[in-house]
Amino acid sequence: MSVIKHFINGKAFLGSSKKTGKVFNPATGEVKSEVNLASKVEVDLAVEKAKNAFIEWSNKPPVIRARVLFKFKELIEKNSDELTKLIVMEHGKVYDDAKGSLTRGLEVVEFACGIPHLLKGEFTENVGTDVDSWSTRQALGVCAGVTPFNFPAMVPMWMFPISIACGNTFILKPSEKNPSCSIKLAELFKEAGLPDGVFNVVNGDKEVVDALLINKDVAAISFVGSTPVAKYIYENAAKNEKRVQALGGAKNHCVVMPDCDLDQAVNGLMGAAYGSAGERCMAQSVAVAVGNIGDKLVSKISKKVEALKVGPGLDNDSEMGPLVTKEHLEKVKGYVDLGVKEGAKLIVDGRNIKLQGFEKGFYIGGCLFDHVKPSMKIYKEEIFGPVLSIVRVNDFESAVKLVNDHEFGNGTSIYTRDGDAGRTYANKIKVGMVGINIPIPVPMAFHSFGGWKRSLFGDQHMHGTEGVRFYTKLKTITSRWPSGPRLDPEFTMPTMK
Ligand code: NAD
Repeated sequence: MSVIKHFINGKAFLGSSKKTGKVFNPATGEVKSEVNLASKVEVDLAVEKAKNAFIEWSNKPPVIRARVLFKFKELIEKNSDELTKLIVMEHGKVYDDAKGSLTRGLEVVEFACGIPHLLKGEFTENVGTDVDSWSTRQALGVCAGVTPFNFPAMVPMWMFPISIACGNTFILKPSEKNPSCSIKLAELFKEAGLPDGVFNVVNGDKEVVDALLINKDVAAISFVGSTPVAKYIYENAAKNEKRVQALGGAKNHCVVMPDCDLDQAVNGLMGAAYGSAGERCMAQSVAVAVGNIGDKLVSKISKKVEALKVGPGLDNDSEMGPLVTKEHLEKVKGYVDLGVKEGAKLIVDGRNIKLQGFEKGFYIGGCLFDHVKPSMKIYKEEIFGPVLSIVRVNDFESAVKLVNDHEFGNGTSIYTRDGDAGRTYANKIKVGMVGINIPIPVPMAFHSFGGWKRSLFGDQHMHGTEGVRFYTKLKTITSRWPSGPRLDPEFTMPTMK
């Protein structure tokens, strides 16, 4: 059985920790490899190497750092098939979807290639008589990223390309469920000319995360994962005086207005609810049917859910792959059982799907609930599987209230042909990312990604200019080069007269 190691100081590394975790191929249910789970010893070593590498890397001109990123971009493109297959083999999602997620990560690398421009500060000549002032953004030091299982390439790539382009060094702790893609990215970055120690991958579980949280040489932590862990990371990083951004879970609503183009809304919802088997933080797991649209929506969408082609991610015909692990499959099935008990109407039941030749894979078919109520657990909690809940409300105002009252505020969308409704929705809704006739409003790399409420703890969103701000500190310099007579001491606050 192959063992997935760490990548520390430019090479594969296996420390003294004997702890391992199993990495499954969700399509077959078989154990594909084992991953070594590091202890504090390996974490501290990686931080030490990253701290040493920071001295030279942060001093390199941004244009030199950008050239390494350009080469990295080329290598990702060249190796995209291999990277995509690594995602499919350890996550389960279908090939084209995995490729799309890799491209979304690649776009952040493209954005980071523009770092010389992005790091330019501001300058004011004559803030006072013969006094100039300018600002610059400088790197923080060693940064760390802790990432979830559902985007093995894209989410780590929201973080490390920008952090490294800014002059930081980086420790990535990917999900222990699918770590291979991160290791391959680290190898490619080295091949692109990245100096040893600048990008390190340490595999592990809570023990690694805790070691990062208490290491005084870690300046900043970026986290993406479930809300309880996001809150834990936010609190403990702050307690240990680190900069932190911690993105959490979601329950994304799609408001379907009576005037919308229903075919467009249904197609949008199908991809948004069942794509990647619902294991997306931007998955639309609630459709809010407004006014009299409910029956028509259920009738159209249920046929499509029944016809969903479920199969292994490497099969070209599959529209939806398996879930990531057996435990997660049991959890999602448990929520469907619960929904039935809570009194929601199960219109399509995907629990008993069987795939010939893949009997041990972690599959569930698409599930559709109607008449879901806000008091039900299946409405309140994140299921993270291919389960769409339809909630019926009388009018637009009730839809807005429903969405705003939910504890999560990651993404949302509205389907309507009424510009006023679309604009009011975008204006009033307490959610970080909003789509108008767009099912999954994931911002492009040059904008920033992040939710509101309990979907994000911290101040800054990821990537785009928010990413550059998160990974740099602002310094403002005020200077005078006196050529006239020497000034007398001043004991009052200097002001402009
Ligand atoms: P998770 O919270 O279980 O794990 C995320 C990371 O935290 C992993 O690297 C894991 O090893 C580590 N971790 C787990 N438990 C920990 C603990 N007790 N202490 C310290 N570290 C711990 O999340 P997951 O199951 O891998 O991913 C799914 C979740 O991620 C969903 O809730 C989804 O909504 C969320 N997610 C959010 C976004 C976003 O942008 N808001 C994006 C992707 C995924």
